[in-house]
Amino acid sequence: CLYRALIMLVFSCPCALVISIPLGYFGGIGGASRRGILVKGSNYLDALTSVKTVVFDKTGTLTKGEFKVSEIVTKNGYDKSEVLKYAAHAEANSNHPIAQSIIEAFSGEISQDSIGDVNEIAGQGMEAEVENKIVIVGNDKLLHNKNIKHDKCVIEGTVVHVTVDSKYAGYIVISDMIKEDAMQAIKELKKLGVKKIVMLTGDNAFVAKRIASELNIDEVYAELLPEDKVNYIEKFISELSKKDKVAFVGDGINDAPVLARADVGIAMGALGSDAAVETADIVLMNDTPSSVPTSIRIAKKTRRIVWQNILFALGVKLLFIIFAGFGLATMWEAVFGDMGVALIAILNATRVLKS
Ligand code: ADP
Ligand code: MG
Repeated sequence: CLYRALIMLVFSCPCALVISIPLGYFGGIGGASRRGILVKGSNYLDALTSVKTVVFDKTGTLTKGEFKVSEIVTKNGYDKSEVLKYAAHAEANSNHPIAQSIIEAFSGEISQDSIGDVNEIAGQGMEAEVENKIVIVGNDKLLHNKNIKHDKCVIEGTVVHVTVDSKYAGYIVISDMIKEDAMQAIKELKKLGVKKIVMLTGDNAFVAKRIASELNIDEVYAELLPEDKVNYIEKFISELSKKDKVAFVGDGINDAPVLARADVGIAMGALGSDAAVETADIVLMNDTPSSVPTSIRIAKKTRRIVWQNILFALGVKLLFIIFAGFGLATMWEAVFGDMGVALIAILNATRVLKS
């Protein structure tokens, strides 16, 4: 009787589970990081498996965020080099990709001495004192907020309006390119069972719609401020049942609050801001949107293997415990039933690494 009890004790040892479950998750996190996807915890890997809505930011996430000035249109007697000079000085202290492109297009030297107070209006533009004049550089919404008269609101493309002492000086047209793998990323997400793909952007509706239709994105909302993006995320979360998740993918420039609010916040690591890398749950080191479906695939594989191990270990042990109860098992079988199952489960868990 004591012998039978001992055999039961050996069979019921939970080693296989205790070792293989965390090992499966380590494998998943390790496999993901080999592909440049840093997952900050196994709970996010789990959450990824039930993502039903994926929300993308536009600039720097679906597009390269490498803007190039393609045209400068002047008004009210200003000339191109003047407009560019004012804009570059106003943008000198911004790290927005738009600012970088304007500074790059301005070939002259930026003199910090001529710049006074600077105020960055998130998701809209800059207000800065340049050569003792108030220069505003930003989108149409900003001009309306500041009550500055301008003849045309809808211009095809991403445009930055420039005003000097409340007088409209013209606009700078800049262009960005869609990342090569964006299309493929969206296709794969749909294949992986994501129900809704959304794009949120602070850019104008014209550019937003063009990119969304090119990429087959289901829903698009444009001209948003950082806080509007948070409201949309909350709406998407409330539309789903509790077990279904919303992922947000952004670069952190004007979208760090959303990264924090989404069930799974995914940030572009190379291009993104430090705040984004800090608040995100998952960081994509190679800045590619296709890493999003890859991470969901790894997460699903991890979960599948962890469940295989749980069912396999519990199943085998239960069977042997029943045998042992009838006195049909020996101590040797018990040792194999415990260590053998543990080893098989461990070997199975290491498969995640190769996903
Ligand atoms: P997205 O949501 O696509 O990532 P952002 O929120 O970063 O875009 O920016 C939204 C819009 O705000 C830009 O398209 C631009 O019109 C304006 N904007 C933001 N920052 C600046 C800036 N530093 N200079 C000029 N315009 C800016
Ligand atoms: Mg952005």
